[in-house]
Amino acid sequence: MQRREVLKLVSAASILGGVFGPKQLAHAIDKKSITAITSGASRNLFEELGIRTFINARGTITAMTGSLMHQEVLDAIQDGAQAFCMLDEVQDKVGERIAKIVHAEAAVVTSGAFSALTLGLAGVLTGMDEYKVRQLPNLEGTGMKSEVICQKSHDIVYNKALTNTGCKMIMVESAEELKNAITEKTALLFFLNIEADKGQIGHEEFVKIGKAHNIPTMIDIAADVPPVSNLWRFNDMGFDLVCISGGKAMRGPQSAGILMGRKNIIDAARLSMPPRGFNIGRGMKVNKEEVLGMYVALEKFVNQDHDATWKDWEARTAKIAKRIEKLPGIQTRVFIPKLGNVTPNLEISWKGDAFKLSGEALAERLRKGTPSIELGEVKSNMVSLTVWMMKPGEEDIVAGRLVEELQQAKA
Ligand SMILES: *Cc1c(COP(=O)(O)O)cnc(C)c1O
Repeated sequence: MQRREVLKLVSAASILGGVFGPKQLAHAIDKKSITAITSGASRNLFEELGIRTFINARGTITAMTGSLMHQEVLDAIQDGAQAFCMLDEVQDKVGERIAKIVHAEAAVVTSGAFSALTLGLAGVLTGMDEYKVRQLPNLEGTGMKSEVICQKSHDIVYNKALTNTGCKMIMVESAEELKNAITEKTALLFFLNIEADKGQIGHEEFVKIGKAHNIPTMIDIAADVPPVSNLWRFNDMGFDLVCISGGKAMRGPQSAGILMGRKNIIDAARLSMPPRGFNIGRGMKVNKEEVLGMYVALEKFVNQDHDATWKDWEARTAKIAKRIEKLPGIQTRVFIPKLGNVTPNLEISWKGDAFKLSGEALAERLRKGTPSIELGEVKSNMVSLTVWMMKPGEEDIVAGRLVEELQQAKA
């Protein structure tokens, strides 16, 4: 429901309320409208609680609450909240649809890419054996495997998601080392897409080694759409499990993600998920509203005109650059990350003495200004930004504030 419609309804309700009183009023307007009114659509909780909101020129950062959901996703969440259903059934039905879209045998909505990593590995370790599910993260004496191999350059903080199952990470560099590291304890070969160019072993060789040794392979592509084709590229390539965030570029619920891949592993992974409570995943609950919201976000993302979106990002980035470049001493550069968060980044830099202001101080002034603005990476003589998480028109506000502060700081 659009805010405009809500406002209309609210005023209609107050007029009708004066005549009929709340009970009669409930009959006068349909259930959905009542929800919109009583859910406090006009209440500004950020203001009420004194929470700073800002224009996001940074990107899809967890600490900044990720991304904003589209209206269709919010509608799915609101509609989903109107009825009970079985949690497993909503996951079954949504999973089938998602699997078809991403060319996988199966899929399940998880509470983010992090839990997709944990649950996918749990499925590999336990299979359909409930006894084993109950033992995690204690692997000793259970007959379960206990090691995950990955390339040294793919070892980042999120590997904690894998060791949460009780497994140990084994680091390798070359393909030879990888083959030699495989033993009867090896559960999984793990690949991190965003560091794909930093390791010696490429995607396809990695998958081939997994298949040759009959060890499942998993890839983390958490932040790696666009391009939209990454949603199916790694399933097509033969990775057994693919993990992605729902609340980054796809703009699904920030607390959702997708685990996709082999049906037998995903069936097993679900034994470690709610509603079952004897497992390591019970705290990784995804409610039906988020499962539905994730599905709608994915569908919308896949069907969107990606060329048009890209052109829009480029145009808005160029608009900011054009205004800033007019300041003498300013240089701009557009930089596009190759593997993840693939979107135009604008770098604005200046010679050390051109302005009496460091990049850090400039970022702080924008943060403290009205409206507050969060920039991307900053250095002593550089700030960067992206427009992809900005609402339409916010690029003008950001450009205006940058020009204002820089002009004031001219040496
Ligand atoms: C964001 C991210 C994660 C965690 O994703 P969530 O959806 O927030 O759980 C994991 N791996 C990488 C590489 C990421 O960028």
